[in-house]
Amino acid sequence: MSTKLLGWDDTIIALATPPGVGAIGVIRLSGAKAIDIVNDLFPSKNLAAQSSHTLHVGMLTQNAQVLDEVVISLFKGPRSYTGENVVEISCHGSPFIHQQVIDACLQGGARLAKPGEFTQRAFLNGRLDLTQAEAVADLIASNTAASHKTALQNIRGGFSSALRDLREQLIQFSALIELELDFSQEDVEFADRSKLKALVENAMYQTNTLLQSFKLGNVIKNGVTVAIVGKPNAGKSTLLNAFLNEDRAIVSEIPGTTRDTIEETLNIDGILFRLIDTAGIRAHTVDVIESVGIAKSYQKMQQADIVIYLFDVHEVNADELNTISADLQQQGLHYLLVGNKADADSNIKGLYAAIPNVIFISAKSGLHLEVLKERMVDLVLKDTVQSENVIVTNARHFHALQEVLKSLEDVYNGLEQRIPGDLLALDIRRCLYFLGEITGEVTSDDQLDYIFSKFCIGK
Ligand code: GDP
Repeated sequence: MSTKLLGWDDTIIALATPPGVGAIGVIRLSGAKAIDIVNDLFPSKNLAAQSSHTLHVGMLTQNAQVLDEVVISLFKGPRSYTGENVVEISCHGSPFIHQQVIDACLQGGARLAKPGEFTQRAFLNGRLDLTQAEAVADLIASNTAASHKTALQNIRGGFSSALRDLREQLIQFSALIELELDFSQEDVEFADRSKLKALVENAMYQTNTLLQSFKLGNVIKNGVTVAIVGKPNAGKSTLLNAFLNEDRAIVSEIPGTTRDTIEETLNIDGILFRLIDTAGIRAHTVDVIESVGIAKSYQKMQQADIVIYLFDVHEVNADELNTISADLQQQGLHYLLVGNKADADSNIKGLYAAIPNVIFISAKSGLHLEVLKERMVDLVLKDTVQSENVIVTNARHFHALQEVLKSLEDVYNGLEQRIPGDLLALDIRRCLYFLGEITGEVTSDDQLDYIFSKFCIGK
């Protein structure tokens, strides 16, 4: 289904660079009339007669009045991002100029693009499948090296090709089954059951690998939430500041709906750590695990992927620490025990002997902060699948893959119970349906609108 078949023959326009003052601003048009609309404003050359993938410098004018000196990039459909005629106008970076150029094009017959509409057109014209289109949004949103790399890999079709492999195996499976159905009169089992089983097993294995990669994918895309907890005066706010001071360039405050949800982020080895409830730490309102079972900060800990339990090495003994450690473990939390104020101390040796995996730091002087950071990364990567291969980062894909796996399990059980081939074929079709949902072969308009509405305008 192309944009043409949908009757989308209108030409869309949007500012492709961020709004505001900049060195340059790029305005992008896509649609059948894109070249004609700009040509009418570009007296020095006939753009329609120029080759695709060329640049043209000249004055953009409307009613004999110069709007700006611009560079025009020309892409003729179908060899363009959207598959339609695409023109990009690079003008000087003043919002006033951008508005004038956009207005002139609107008067020439273009209309303002909706969020993600360029990419939506690329999808509808078969230039990208849905996973690649979604990776475009992820790429724009990527804020660490790892999320950038994953999104780029998915745009290039890494995930799609893994799905294609899976799909081919299933099609091979249904071909064998269909063949058998053709001979159903003869009551023979044409398709070798053990071969079918092997095929399904392999497909289940692949699906499982993809599903397992989601944990890492989620970490890469959304970051890891960290709660720093401990008694008052343990040094929580000092540690927070030590983290943030070191990382000043990439620290940002993300204002939430209330002051309580202020989050600060830091990037360690390409993984984004979100320090939750930092307002609470600053306000000294969230403290305390005074002894076993005191649960004031448990709720906060439950929300976190990682808990840093910070204690003052002068204020704790080995027994207490063991109790706390057992308690955190029992709650199934991923945690690090961190002994602070280890700058001038004799207490450390005893504690270390009692609980060997304690990390000793001095938040004040920054001593061993690097070790703590390394251990944070280790903790994240410990139970995620390490894969240079395809990583699932999108919750929509994850849920569809879960359905794929369920259908495969039904097929497998069906084979075990020797159910008739036509019933097996039904389960396989269900499986192919969910695979198609991921790549966009099976979609509803609502679903597409939802996916593309999350894009920014101009993309
Ligand atoms: P919070 O209540 O857990 O947030 O603790 P603070 O960060 O406010 O620290 C409590 C006190 O311990 C302050 O006086 C800090 O200067 C001090 N402190 C924090 N970290 C260290 C450290 O590594 N060494 C020493 N000697 N003092 C520290």
